[in-house]
Amino acid sequence: MGAKTSVLLIYTGGTIGMIQDAKNGQLRPFDFAHLTDQIPELKKFDIRLSAISFEHPIDSSDMDPTVWIKLAKMIQKNYSKYDGFVILHGSDTMAFTASALSFMLENLDKPVILTGSQLPIGIIRTDGKENLITAIEIAGAKEKERAVVREVCIYFEYQLYRGNRTHKFNSEHFQAFQSPNYPVLAEAGVHLRYNQAAMLPAGKSKLKVHTTLDPNITILHLFPGVTRNAVKAIVSTRGLKALILLTFGSGNCSTETWFLDLLANTIQKGILILNITQCNAGSVDQGKYETSASLQHIGVVGGGDMTTEAAVAKLMFVLGKAKNNKAALKELTRDLRGEMTT
Ligand code: ASP
Repeated sequence: MGAKTSVLLIYTGGTIGMIQDAKNGQLRPFDFAHLTDQIPELKKFDIRLSAISFEHPIDSSDMDPTVWIKLAKMIQKNYSKYDGFVILHGSDTMAFTASALSFMLENLDKPVILTGSQLPIGIIRTDGKENLITAIEIAGAKEKERAVVREVCIYFEYQLYRGNRTHKFNSEHFQAFQSPNYPVLAEAGVHLRYNQAAMLPAGKSKLKVHTTLDPNITILHLFPGVTRNAVKAIVSTRGLKALILLTFGSGNCSTETWFLDLLANTIQKGILILNITQCNAGSVDQGKYETSASLQHIGVVGGGDMTTEAAVAKLMFVLGKAKNNKAALKELTRDLRGEMTT
């Protein structure tokens, strides 16, 4: 028999480790040491569990690319010492962090499972205990000495999702996440049932950690009646390198000349425009309607069925790495980590 399976728990903050302030009733992060006090079951696992916590745990609304880089480096540093990783993270921006890590950790051969909760762990009805316990079990799962899961995932409310396919769609329900364009990777009931056919294949070479991200991107969320001034202000953002255009339906937008001209000028200035649908599910199909054919014509790039979260992370990753726009475009339209259907 091999050595005991080992899992590293990284606590970044979020509701799962929060307590209610006695004075004003607000939720605030507490010392990670209390988390294991709250879940004595953790001590019973047949897994060697180690834990590290951010010195100052954060609400996930304060996440940014510098923290993603810090997390990627933590995994890199500990990669050979553990069989799997569980990242405790606020649910609000968990899909962004999972997406970013999926791009930054190339050739991943071990599970990196993000989880959190809607109710703090100290509250009787918390969803945090089940989420944490099962996330650890998945992070430690092996078959014939190999990790069962070899990608960045989110585990939440009995479902394991590919991280870069997820979206937080409900701010109250325990089932807070969806993966609208890709099947779940596992379901936890009486048994943990893995959907092997949906999982990424094993990494072919050694883990490669990318730690350069370029945050010079922004999002233009279209709505009927958006003004020229508003569009102009967004495309004129100083230092802008790429814009996500959140379009209607299968990638459609206004056919007003002023609007298309502004976008065409933006592209001519060397700024990339990526077309992502505002719809929760489905794909961009540029050219299907006249209202998206014009986007295709001026050089807007179709983002397929990527989530907005994956698009944000992919753009930062690709811009941080690519030598020029041609190289960036090539990467953008390719499926890098299972984030889009090609
Ligand atoms: N605001 C919290 C956060 O994202 C909510 C949660 O933990 O789920 O950090």
